[in-house]
Amino acid sequence: MKVLSYGYPKLGEKREFKTTLEGFWSKKITEEQFYEGMRTIEAQRVKAYMENVDEIPTGELSFYDFMLDTAVMVGAIPSRFGEYNGLDTYFEMARGKQAMEMTKYFNTNYHYIVPELESNVFKLLNNKPQRCFINAKDKVKNPKPYLIAPFTFLKLSKTFKKSSSAGFDILEPSKIEDEKTLMYFLEPILEVYKDIIKSLKTENVNIISFHDPALVLDLKDYEIKAIKKIYQELSFVDIELITYYDSVSAYKDIIDLPVKRIGLDLCSNTENLGNLKKYGFPQDKELIAGLINGRQVWRANLEEKLHLIEELSKIAKNISISNSCPLMHVPVNVESETKMDIELKKRLSFAKQKLSELKTLKGAYEGNPEALRVLQETKELFKTDFGKNESVQNRIKSLKESDFQRELPFKERIKLQQSILNLPLFPTTTIGSFPQTEEVRKKRSAYNAGKISKEEYDAFIKSQIDNVIKFQEEIDLDVLVHGEFERTDMVEFFAQKLKGVATTEHGWIISYGSRGYRPPIIYGDVYRDEPMTLNEILYAQSKTQKPVKGMLTGPITILNWSFYKEDIPKKETAYQIALAILDEVKDLEKNGIKIIQIDEPAFREGVPLKKKDWDSYFDWAIKAFRLCSNALPKIQIHTHMCYSEFNDIIDKIYEMDFDVISIEASRSKGEILEAFEKFGKWDRQIGIGVYDIHSPAIPSVKQMELVMKRAMKVLDKSLLWVNPDCGLKTRKWEEVIPALKNMMSMAFKIRKEA
Ligand code: GLN
Ligand code: ZN
Repeated sequence: MKVLSYGYPKLGEKREFKTTLEGFWSKKITEEQFYEGMRTIEAQRVKAYMENVDEIPTGELSFYDFMLDTAVMVGAIPSRFGEYNGLDTYFEMARGKQAMEMTKYFNTNYHYIVPELESNVFKLLNNKPQRCFINAKDKVKNPKPYLIAPFTFLKLSKTFKKSSSAGFDILEPSKIEDEKTLMYFLEPILEVYKDIIKSLKTENVNIISFHDPALVLDLKDYEIKAIKKIYQELSFVDIELITYYDSVSAYKDIIDLPVKRIGLDLCSNTENLGNLKKYGFPQDKELIAGLINGRQVWRANLEEKLHLIEELSKIAKNISISNSCPLMHVPVNVESETKMDIELKKRLSFAKQKLSELKTLKGAYEGNPEALRVLQETKELFKTDFGKNESVQNRIKSLKESDFQRELPFKERIKLQQSILNLPLFPTTTIGSFPQTEEVRKKRSAYNAGKISKEEYDAFIKSQIDNVIKFQEEIDLDVLVHGEFERTDMVEFFAQKLKGVATTEHGWIISYGSRGYRPPIIYGDVYRDEPMTLNEILYAQSKTQKPVKGMLTGPITILNWSFYKEDIPKKETAYQIALAILDEVKDLEKNGIKIIQIDEPAFREGVPLKKKDWDSYFDWAIKAFRLCSNALPKIQIHTHMCYSEFNDIIDKIYEMDFDVISIEASRSKGEILEAFEKFGKWDRQIGIGVYDIHSPAIPSVKQMELVMKRAMKVLDKSLLWVNPDCGLKTRKWEEVIPALKNMMSMAFKIRKEA
């Protein structure tokens, strides 16, 4: 039995990846130093693998994103970037002025660059697989090239079709959704993959790892046909086919593909295991059992896993063990956590620990006494009530239907709210955060390091709030915010206040590019024991006559951007968080706050990959939102979502029963409007983000007016708000001031013309 692994985090124990990349971008280091830094990072990764696993994947380290790498590899460079000239073009594509779209990878919080296929002309532009293999060849044991498989690549790419949505003739990005289009791109791209394989064969490669997570999506018949064709044509080399994030669709077809090994995720649900038991596994193939969870941070119950291996070995003749999905979704090393509660720490396993869990499992399977001792030790961890809180559990048990239902229907609520708020046509607002300047960050770290007192820090935050209120009044925004200066991150901030949730010091994972975040760890029953946001919101409200929005993060987002318990249903944790947020809503309400925004940017990414699982997710996800937002009818509930594909879930979003939603649409252009057009009965108020806050460019009045004009073709103008598409915390004041001034000019203009 071999131990295999993949997707080990590139971030580095000290976030070396981030420093190297950002150092290069800001010209603090030279190109040579950049490459040197990347080599050091690769060496760290290889070392972690070498100590524990039997084969080392090569080519995993990407300078930005592996989908972008694949696009470059096959020569899919959008024409606006001109001739590809290496790193410059690469980073222009990733983060330049006309950067490519970025979206969430499957149901994870990792964001990939969406390849844009302008034509079906592909060529082997950059043979990274071969280069990386050659570099590793003499240094590591059993190097194994890694590739994103052609099907997954095409499935996640966008092509362009002419569309005339909302009366405008534009090139709309669209996914590949029919057989003809798929084959149109597939045939030529396969030729490039064949060239790569040939070039690797000249280096005496034994086996190539193809990652094909798209095989876990719902598959249409023509797609299965295409998948068969792909592996048939590529089978002139031994292939290791890895799938993850869910169970494979079309199990019987997949296990019959002409490949040597098949990797299945045995952690995300029990379907793969069910199919293995029901249909067996071909005796001439090797099963890679993904049994250490790559999405969660808990130590595995190794005894159970050992039983599972024994069970599997009755089904498959050849077994290897592995993580269930890339390890990049967990932080690097739990040993770096020096301040963490010891009871919690001993229950955790980050990437480094997961590799050694795999090794231990193999040892235990082979009867190694030290491995068996560790296995006994972990058993104890699963016997206690760690993190349990009886009263939270009872509160969940006593929930009634009416807890999920606001007192009045939307139509009546909105009238009541308008009679209080008196907002103009096209009300203007922002999403919540204002620039987190160097000064803000410095003060926060000084405070956290105990260098300044709480009084000094609070006074500083207050002065920031004063400024931002003054600015918003000056430019005449209608609904104000307090700026979120006291928050590091919209989830971490609440995690630090909620009970049953821990935060980490070094538990970073990459969200996109060089951008990392530290997911909190929900280890127990969740509750709130005192107000979390009240002080700042009330302070801001005391400084203005205009309404200030209370700013909260919703339960689904807190849950999805955290690690959570595996031993109770997700739904239960969601309701627990929802009740804690509801307590906050009630406090804001009691203190005279009239508008409360509950952000749910992660609502989409929690959606299961297969349609058949949607209903059960939406049932509790929608209810969790309704539970936490069950304010009095006179309170206007806003929500906000961004950077996802919302088109296919508009009906579910509608059921959340908020009063106003602000939604990002500027990067993926008119698509979202098309979806509203199709949905038909949309009557909630809505702010279509009028400009992209990820770009430093100052949006023009005209450009934002166009967004509004398009929206007006589809939605009644009385429903429309004017706002940027997300929070402004990553921008500079020099950008925010003119951008919002232009936004206001635009609002005045369209009001006058309406
Ligand atoms: N209120 C948050 C902010 O403005 C929302 C961030 C988000 O949607 N990701 O930063
Ligand atoms: Zn957002």
